[in-house]
Formats: sequence, structure tokens, C-alpha cells
Amino acid sequence: MTLALPNDQDATGRSLGDEELALLREVIASGTLTSTKGRVVKELERTFAEQLGLPHAVACSSGTAAIHTALAALNPNPGDEVITTPITDMGALTPILYQGAIPVFADVDPATLNVTAATLRARLSDRTKAIIVTHLFGNPCRMDEIAALAREKGIPVIEDCAQAFLARSRGGLVGTFGTIACFSFQQGKHMTSGEGGIVACKDPALARRMYLFVNKGWGYGDANPDHEFLALNYRMSELLGAVALAQFRKLGDAVKSRVAAARRLSERLARVPGVRVPGVDSRDTHAYWRYALFVDSSKIKEGAPGLAVRLAKLGVVSQPRYIKKPAFECRVFQKRRTFGESHFPFDLARPEALDWSRERFPGTYEGLEHVLVMPWNERYTAQHVDFIAGAVEEAASDLISKG
Ligand SMILES: *Cc1c(COP(=O)(O)O)cnc(C)c1O
Repeated sequence: MTLALPNDQDATGRSLGDEELALLREVIASGTLTSTKGRVVKELERTFAEQLGLPHAVACSSGTAAIHTALAALNPNPGDEVITTPITDMGALTPILYQGAIPVFADVDPATLNVTAATLRARLSDRTKAIIVTHLFGNPCRMDEIAALAREKGIPVIEDCAQAFLARSRGGLVGTFGTIACFSFQQGKHMTSGEGGIVACKDPALARRMYLFVNKGWGYGDANPDHEFLALNYRMSELLGAVALAQFRKLGDAVKSRVAAARRLSERLARVPGVRVPGVDSRDTHAYWRYALFVDSSKIKEGAPGLAVRLAKLGVVSQPRYIKKPAFECRVFQKRRTFGESHFPFDLARPEALDWSRERFPGTYEGLEHVLVMPWNERYTAQHVDFIAGAVEEAASDLISKG
């Protein structure tokens, strides 16, 4: 018997309701839809920053805009290098190119698909301007070690927390270890306004630059306002702010529910041969944007893709290989399709910075080969989880190599 699972692309798996409608109604009645004059986006920024224990936050139009805004605040020179991960959302990568910087890909730990202090260290050069880490699937990177590396080298870290709302690394909230934290409110994230994002930080000068960057460089309220530097309009409107603020008030419950459901599944699957449940250190909190199983292809016939096919027949959707291939295998990188025929900024790069040969990324290829990513949702009940567990047990036992 199959069971329809809540889905984050529609009402079955989202918590949008009266609270969002009430705030939207207020905004519409006020007649003020721009955040430069309204109150709701400001309130979102204030409460979001407060939850992180950071003094500053600036809302913006997407997670991609958040990464772009964070990087623009750090103000790299053309050709400066930004070390990042090849297993992330493209929205975490294209802003690097738009700011004229070179994305330098670090390898990942095959057990988590996260970058580590060691894999980042291996890519440092005298042109490294920043590091961007993604807490993939909601599982936090080892931020104590990464922050220590960054301090040692004096390099700022942008934490991409788009998949990791309220996740904790050694007890500390992700987003509070680095220089700037970025979040996305896209449809499928822990909280959503359809599109939207936010950046947060401690440093007032960086906060000011981020505020200016989302406002075309214009300093609203300044004594003598002007367009201070090259910048875009990445503002969030009050309409999106209303939905995001109502969603933010539900965030704690959503994350708790995701964690509880995931723990139940991990307990059920802990002893299933051929699959490994997400490894979470006892001092960390995984926020479970997705639930990533690792499939041992020496035990399970046809590995993760084989298990995915069998699971689909049992009514459970899953994604082998997550984003299919490392980001640097995408055409934008392979063909350097950027601005006209220029190949800018790739034309400024050291050859080694663009060396994407397979042997430099053993963890990336191994991790992608074995990972099986399952959608996850705050509306999963014990019944949903038991259904998923039963399907994985059945599919794995069908495919386990006998003898
Ligand atoms: C979703 C996501 C983004 C991009 O956010 P958008 O709001 O879709 O632009 C960036 N990084 C990561 C890790 C994401 O999951």
C-alpha cells in the first residue's frame, strides 16, 4: 500500500495559512508595499538577526541575491579567488562570477558531502579573498575548525545556511561562526515566501555595505544620500516580508518536527544492511532540509540509482547523485559562458584555480556516487516515516547481494 507524502511544492507540505494572510492583509491595507517605507520587512530583519544573536540583518529577493550581497560587501577585486564547494545550489556560485571573482572548488568529505577545514586549506592561495561554505542538506560543516582556519589566515567566511535553518555545529547556531550568514526563503526551504532571502552579520560596516548593495547603493536616511557604488535592487517587498515574517514565527516548530521525524527514520534504518543513515555528531544538530542516505554499492545491486528505482515503485521519491554532477561540470563553467565572448572573469584565473581534474576531487565523486537524497518535510508523521522506512527495508533487501 502506498501513502501520499507531504510535498514542499504545495499545501500538503507547507504551513502557509491564516497567520500569513493576516499579515498580508495588514500590508495591503497600509498601501505601502515597498520595504523602504514599510515596517514588516524591518521587523523580519530585526527578529531574524535577534534569533541568531547577531546585530544586523538585511532581507533581499532570493538566496542567490543573499550570496551576491554578502560577497559584494567583501568587495573582491577582479580575479580574486573564492573557495567554495562543487556540491551546492548554483545560486551559491554564480554571484562569485558576477562579482568578477574566481570560484575555486574544494573537495568534500564523502561521508557528508560538506567541505572541511582540510579540503579548504588545500585550495588556499595568495589570491584567496573569501571562503563560502554550504551546510549541505542541513547537516552543519565543522565550523569550529573552519573558523579557526579562517582566523589563522585572516580570510572571511560566508556561511550558506539556505538548507540549514537552526542547525548547530558543536552547539553553536550555523551562521554565527562566519563573517556573514546567508539564507533563502525559496519555496522548498524550511520557511518560505516563494522567493526571498536574508543576510546577517556582526560587523556594522559590512551590514552597511549589504544594505546599500540591495538598494542600488543609495543610503536611505543619510544626511547627504547618493549612489555610493555599483549595486542592484535586491529588495524584498513588504508582501513577501509579510509571508516570511509569519513563516519565521513557525520556523522553530518546523525544524523540531523535521528533526524528530528524521531521528525516527534513522533508528529504523540503522541496522538495514547496505545503507548508512546520515552521520550526525552528538554535539551537532542537523536541520534535515533533505534526508541523505549513503548506499554501499558493493552490497546493494546497482547502488543508489538501483535503490531509487526500486523505491519509486514502492511510492517513495528519491534523488540519486543529488545535483547529478559536480558544479564545475556544468556548461557555464566548462564553456566559461559569462559576459559576451570575454570569458571574464575566468580569463583572469591562475590555471591551477580552474583545474577540475577528477583526481583532485576524490571525495566529491565518491560522495555523489553513493548518496541517495530523499525529500524531507515538517509534516511527516510517524505513519509517513514508517512507510518510508518499510519501503527502504524492502527495496534494500530485494537488492542485497546474496552470499
Ligand atoms: C536554495 C539555495 C540557494 C539559492 O537560493 P534561491 O532563493 O533559490 O536563490 C543557495 N544555496 C543553497 C545551499 C540553496 O539550497
